[in-house]
Amino acid sequence: MTDAGRLARHISDARRVMVFTGAGISTESGIPDFRSPGGVWSKMSPIYFQDFVASRDARRESWRRVFNRTEGWTGAEPNVGHYAVSDLVKRGKVSSVVTQNVDNLHQASGVPDEKVIEIHGNASYAKCLQCGKRYEFESLRERWENDEDLTCIFCTGLLKNATVSFGQAMPEIEMQRAGEEALLCDLCLVLGSSLVVYPAAAIPIEAKRNGARLIIVNREPTDQDPFADLVLHKEIGSLLTDTMAILDK
Ligand SMILES: [Zn+2]
Repeated sequence: MTDAGRLARHISDARRVMVFTGAGISTESGIPDFRSPGGVWSKMSPIYFQDFVASRDARRESWRRVFNRTEGWTGAEPNVGHYAVSDLVKRGKVSSVVTQNVDNLHQASGVPDEKVIEIHGNASYAKCLQCGKRYEFESLRERWENDEDLTCIFCTGLLKNATVSFGQAMPEIEMQRAGEEALLCDLCLVLGSSLVVYPAAAIPIEAKRNGARLIIVNREPTDQDPFADLVLHKEIGSLLTDTMAILDK
């Protein structure tokens, strides 16, 4: 049986699939994996959360990166891998997409917001650090161009892009929801994560520990490969395209 055939059989046998995605699914959209050579953190240093909160200069630099799209996280289009996942959600096979990515591409490919659990946040809009109110970047552009220190118009809290920065706490609600999905699913399908960033990387193992099958699709080997029921070191887009074709038969 082909790799796509094996993957299709696992998906077809499952009742409830949790998809867990990392940078590898978005590299095919041209977003560089931030840890690899050529990735964003090899070109500039990240701004730590503590510095953002403490320093006006750090905030100015952070907003400059947002408005100049320096980090390259936004503006890309979903690829066939994202669309295959979206298709599986529409078919009722995938109950949730837990993602380490901040690029908004699962939503852009048609997965409803409530099915995407973003454990590292989202780079396509801003949030008030105090009250959580969402702000679209364009609504802030003029204030930024006037060199304002961007704060919430409701509570005066600091505004920041909605990613989880280095040094910032993981989002509690999202981590809790991901943990619940790990309990409920009977198949955890990891797509393009090297499973090295914790606590995110513990979620697939949690699913496995609770009796779900674990499938890892990643270009490189991962530390969790030995625990998986199926490991495929493949390109995600072409593999999922073949898999969907088999499921359609
Ligand atoms: Zn606020």
